Amino acid sequence: MANTKEKEQANAYTVKQLTKVYGEGRTAVHALRGVDLDIGRGEIAVLLGPSGSGKSTLLNILGGLDKATNGEAYFGAQNLTEMNDRELTKYRRNHVGFVFQFYNLMPSLTARENVELVTEIADHPMAAEDALHLVGLGKRLDHFPAQLSGGEQQRVAIARAVAKQPDVLFCDEPTGALDSATGRAVLRVLQDVNETLGTTVLIITHAAATAAMADRVINFADGAIRDVELNAHRLAAEEIEW
Ligand code: ADP
Repeated sequence: MANTKEKEQANAYTVKQLTKVYGEGRTAVHALRGVDLDIGRGEIAVLLGPSGSGKSTLLNILGGLDKATNGEAYFGAQNLTEMNDRELTKYRRNHVGFVFQFYNLMPSLTARENVELVTEIADHPMAAEDALHLVGLGKRLDHFPAQLSGGEQQRVAIARAVAKQPDVLFCDEPTGALDSATGRAVLRVLQDVNETLGTTVLIITHAAATAAMADRVINFADGAIRDVELNAHRLAAEEIEW
């Protein structure tokens, strides 16, 4: 078996006995109760579990948006749980992209300009046009959000997250506001990003069918991982039975 150091470097994330408690005393909420998890580089991982089971809390800690109470979370060999706020900001800027359920686009900016908000401040961005081509919106560059469907707006949000060429893409309910056909198209785009750029993708979802397109399926219950399944053959998004 590989020693711990080698394992940390081969993994995108190595999580050990991670806990998160919100609040104190009688009102304390134990959102994570000792999570152990490995996520390989270049994987698609799907987090499933009921509302309130701790999925977003884990994603926020791995994404550098929140801090753990105890335990360790490594990004490669870097210990996120020892980083101060400035280091976490740098980690987020250089390595991480986020996609949320609601697209958070600027309504007064075109698709291209929404993506440029990010490419202007990133170190090694791709061109906004290239990012929009990657998500299939090469013909919608100059449309405003109100002129785009929900699925198209989510694809702009994905282009914006991907344009800075992050190592990891975190997606919190990315298809939650979409019908099944549109949701599947958005998942196809996430799969394209993973396959084209090698980006590690973590997806939180209520749609259990999404698990079929993942390499690793992590089932959450009550702040802990109930089980992890590995798919030998992940399905293409369009093959998923919704
Ligand atoms: P999920 O993503 O699986 O729906 P969350 O990680 O959002 O679950 O929440 C896990 C638990 O932590 C829930 O009981 C939730 O109410 C609680 N929680 C999440 N964020 C906070 C917060 N900022 N303050 C207090 N409690 C929180």
